[in-house]
Amino acid sequence: MKTIKDLFSMPHQDIRTLVLKQNNYCCQECKATNNSQGYFSESGLWNPCDKFMLNWARQNGYNIVTIHLNVLLSPEFFKSHNSADVRLLCRKHAAVWKNTNRVKLPYAAPEKR
Ligand SMILES: [Zn+2]
Repeated sequence: MKTIKDLFSMPHQDIRTLVLKQNNYCCQECKATNNSQGYFSESGLWNPCDKFMLNWARQNGYNIVTIHLNVLLSPEFFKSHNSADVRLLCRKHAAVWKNTNRVKLPYAAPEKR
């Protein structure tokens, strides 16, 4: 089993997979799961929606989003190698994270075999 300390020797796509698994495919802030659809309430709570709820939410003017989780490494990570400095966040919370000078892991396409 790979650990967070192995990140430096791993292709970026593998890092993403590892971090997704370690966080149960959820945003660390709002617990929204990767590829799920729903809306954020006025108080910022994530509301996942099934097909029926999506129709209801659209009719009531909620902004429906599909969650794409981002893996982010803080500058501290490169010194600490600490999993606390690796974050898995939805776009909304990644934007907040980046505002505090964090860096996004560059995306690399999976290697061709
Ligand atoms: Zn979030």
